[in-house]
Amino acid sequence: AADKIDTIVSLSKRRGFVFPCSEIYGGQRAAWDYGPLGVELKENLKRQWWRYMVTSREDVVGIDSSVILASEVWEASGHVKTFSDPLTECLSCHKRHRADHLEEAYEAKHNRPPANGLADVNCPNCGTKGQFTEPKQFSGMLATHLGPTQDSGSVAYLRPETAQGIFTNFAQVQQTSRRKPPFGIAQMGKSFRNEITPGNFIFRTREFEQMEMEFFVKPGEDEKWQEYWMEQRWNWYTGLGLREENMRWYEHPKEKLSHYSKRTADIEYRFQFGGSEWGELEGVANRTDYDLTAHSKASGQDLSYFDQEAGERWTPYVIEPAAGVGRTMLAFLLDSYIEDEAPNAKGKLEKRTVMRFDHRIAPVKVAVLPLSRNPELSPKAKGLATALRQNWNIEFDDAGAIGRRYRRQDEIGTPYCVTVDFDTLDDNAVTVRERDTMKQERVSLDQIEGYLATRLVG
Ligand code: ATP
Repeated sequence: AADKIDTIVSLSKRRGFVFPCSEIYGGQRAAWDYGPLGVELKENLKRQWWRYMVTSREDVVGIDSSVILASEVWEASGHVKTFSDPLTECLSCHKRHRADHLEEAYEAKHNRPPANGLADVNCPNCGTKGQFTEPKQFSGMLATHLGPTQDSGSVAYLRPETAQGIFTNFAQVQQTSRRKPPFGIAQMGKSFRNEITPGNFIFRTREFEQMEMEFFVKPGEDEKWQEYWMEQRWNWYTGLGLREENMRWYEHPKEKLSHYSKRTADIEYRFQFGGSEWGELEGVANRTDYDLTAHSKASGQDLSYFDQEAGERWTPYVIEPAAGVGRTMLAFLLDSYIEDEAPNAKGKLEKRTVMRFDHRIAPVKVAVLPLSRNPELSPKAKGLATALRQNWNIEFDDAGAIGRRYRRQDEIGTPYCVTVDFDTLDDNAVTVRERDTMKQERVSLDQIEGYLATRLVG
């Protein structure tokens, strides 16, 4: 299981999905760059999310707000206060803990505070006693300075979630888009968290992309809408091919809910990192009227909604499905990877690696392959590749044996390979090979675009 992650990390690097950040300088711990295939896969996932959550619905609109908001936003939202904790790390298992929570738990158990502080406390994760780093006041917010001075007055935060840009724009979006609750505002973009223990490849990084939607509803209808969005979000993943046996729901216990939440349920995926099988893929939270109320109070702008039909004013409750792009991509990489067998040139079965991506997220849709590097075949194949490129991301490859080129495409999940061979020069037809079944079909050149279009919908 742990090997699977290693396999994915190495395939990602070898084929150009994900590279370690700043690698020519030895790499920056737990930061990653997306290569040519990675950026296509990531953009396809984002496009699918946007379609499903925004453009295919009449009750959700999108925005793109700034990464750096007024500092007051983070004061009012509670982030400046709650994102700052005395953190310590167990030297044995590297699990991080809130130092004050460890001491409180000790006191609850022994009816007295630990006489020697953390030296008396056992790690709740691995049980090792007293092996903690010196607690440090640790803010999860990444701060920077705006303007020429670097004093406390110039501090600005990089957003740790995209949601706040939605709350601050709530009234304007509601009025300009002429929507009434229930309706949603969605946003995708970079968020930043000063994670104390980033890691597990692109699962947890300090800089990451989120896809979030805040759905504003009448108080009292919030529980129903949370159920609705939980179902929608589950269906989004399975609709794109994520296997249900690798997914489950995790309900946050009441006492561990975030400061703004009435109920949070996470979709977890079986990432199978060493030591922990499941990891959060996305959270669906009931944020209540916490944020709008807090911003109304702090800004002096009334962010409540006047319900004309009922003749009353109320502050909407908010249901928030919040997903991470990197985690989604990692889940699809892990889930799509399979090894099976394919016949080689001599008909003997050989191992092949296939990324069984749904065609909607596959980074390359079609590979155009001349059977051999030949003065007649190559220009014909290049011409076809150029024509198909108007619609899809196409790869042209004329290097090496045809079987090897099929394998290369299988390994990056290309749904169709189109081969131009010597018969093409006579019959004006090409051979189309489908990735999963490896079935081949002869299709005439004047029909190839339509043939692919009906199969590569969405
Ligand atoms: P975790 O408990 O794993 O730190 P969280 O509960 O703090 O996550 P949320 O605040 O609910 O995360 O953020 C919503 C989504 O954003 C997460 O489900 C995850 O997909 C993504 N996300 C959050 N933090 C990170 C990170 N450091 N790196 C990558 N993705 C992240």
